[in-house]
Amino acid sequence: MVSIPRKIARLVAFALIVSSILLVGVNTGGWNLRAGTKSRVSGDRRLVFSHKSSKSPQQIVEENYKTLQEILKKPIHEPKTGNLVRPPSDPNRYDRANATMLVLVRNRELGPVVRTIKQIEAKFNQKFHYPYVFLNEEPFTERFKETIQKHVSGEAFFESIDKAIWEQPKSINLRKQADAMQQLETENVGYAKLVSYHNMCRYYSVNFYNHPRLQQFRYYWRFEPGTDYYCDLDYDVFKFMQMNEKTYGFVIALYDVEQSVKTLWPRTLEFLAQHPDYLHPNGAYDFLLENLQNPHKTLTANGYSTCHFWSNFEIADMDFYRSKPYSDWVNFLDSTGGFYYERWGDAPVHSVGVSLFEDRDKIHWFRDIGYKHQPYTLCSNRPSCAGCKKADFTYKHLRDQNCLTNWWNYEMSEDQKNIY
Ligand code: GDP
Ligand code: MN
Repeated sequence: MVSIPRKIARLVAFALIVSSILLVGVNTGGWNLRAGTKSRVSGDRRLVFSHKSSKSPQQIVEENYKTLQEILKKPIHEPKTGNLVRPPSDPNRYDRANATMLVLVRNRELGPVVRTIKQIEAKFNQKFHYPYVFLNEEPFTERFKETIQKHVSGEAFFESIDKAIWEQPKSINLRKQADAMQQLETENVGYAKLVSYHNMCRYYSVNFYNHPRLQQFRYYWRFEPGTDYYCDLDYDVFKFMQMNEKTYGFVIALYDVEQSVKTLWPRTLEFLAQHPDYLHPNGAYDFLLENLQNPHKTLTANGYSTCHFWSNFEIADMDFYRSKPYSDWVNFLDSTGGFYYERWGDAPVHSVGVSLFEDRDKIHWFRDIGYKHQPYTLCSNRPSCAGCKKADFTYKHLRDQNCLTNWWNYEMSEDQKNIY
C-alpha cells in the first residue's frame, strides 16, 4: 500500500520533472540558470539555486557562523563506518593503499616543510609509513634531500617538474596578461602579478596528477610547508577513502576572492553546453550556486558562489582527475588562458570539478583532522587534538568567509552528517 506522504512525494517529484522540462526547454542540454525549483530527481540536471531568505547577508553570516560553532561543539571521535583499518604492529610489512603524501615545495621552504612533516609523522605516518612525493620545478638541493630523509618514515621521491609543463603556455598573449594582472593588482587580488603563483595554481589544477612519478599512485594527501596538524589519527585515512568510496576529502571550506574567478563559471557553462552528460545527477550544485551569504561574490563571479574546499589540505583520488569529465574540462579551462588572464586557484577548480562531476556523497568532510593554514584553523571536539585551541575561525572579521555551513546545510545527507 502506498502511504499518503509517499503519494505526495511522488506527485511533487512528477511536478518538478514537468516544470523542469517547461523551464529548461528542449535544446539547452538539460541545464540552465533560470530561477526555479531544483529537484534531486535523477535526470534533472538543472543548475539552479532555489533557496530564498528574507534575512540580510550580514544576518546570514552570523547565523551560518553560529551554526558552524554548534556543529563543531559536538564531541566526536572517528568515522563510524565500522571498517577503519588500524595501525599494523609492523608498518614495514603493512599492505598499504596505493597512496602518497604529496607536496610542491621550494628549496628555501625546507624549515617549514620539515616542521609540518614532523607533525604528520607523529600523528599519522609513523604508524603506516606511506611514501612521499616532493615536487619542484627546480632541482632539489642535496641539503634539502638529506634533511628530509631524516624525518620521513616512508620512501621519499624527489621529483622535478618539466619546465615546459610548469611554465605558462606560449599561447598566452603577453600584453593581455600584463593588462589583466595590473587590473587584478588594482583590485587587491593577492599574487596578481606573481607568474610563479599562477603557474602553481595551473599545475595543481591541470597537470600534477599526470606527473610521471604520480602515475603509480591513486590517492594523495596534499600538504603544505608551515601548516599544522593537531589530532592523532589512528586509522588509515587512505583505506578509509578507498573502502568507503570517497573521492575527495577536505577540512576547511571558504569563499574565494571573487575577482580572481570572474569567468571561471561562465567558461564552465560553455563547456557544459557541449558536455551536459558529464554532470553528475547528485552533484553539489547548491554549494556552487549559493548567493545568500555573500551575494556580491556570486554576482562578481557571474553565478559562482566562490565556495571551495581549501586545497592546501586535501586527500583525493587522482583517478577522478584522470577521468574524462574532469580532464576534458580543465583542458578546456586551460585553453581559455584564465589561469593567467585571471588568477583561478586550484582550490576552486578542484571544488567546482568534484561538485559537478562527482556524487556529492563521495566528498568527505574530515572533521577529525584538526588543521591550520594561516589565517584559518579548524579544530574538532575530540580528546586527542593537543594544541588545537580554537574550534573556530581565528579572526572575527573573517567569519563571512565561512562556507562550511553551506556544505552542511545544502549538500550533506543525514548519513554524512552522522558519520562521526
Ligand atoms: P597560498 O597558500 O595560496 O598563499 O600559496 P603558497 O605560497 O602556500 O603556495 C602553495 C603551495 O605551492 C605551497 O606548497 C608552496 O610551497 C608551493 N609553491 C608556490 N609557488 C611555488 C613555486 O614557484 N615553486 C614551487 N616549487 N612551489 C611553489
Ligand atoms: Mn599556503
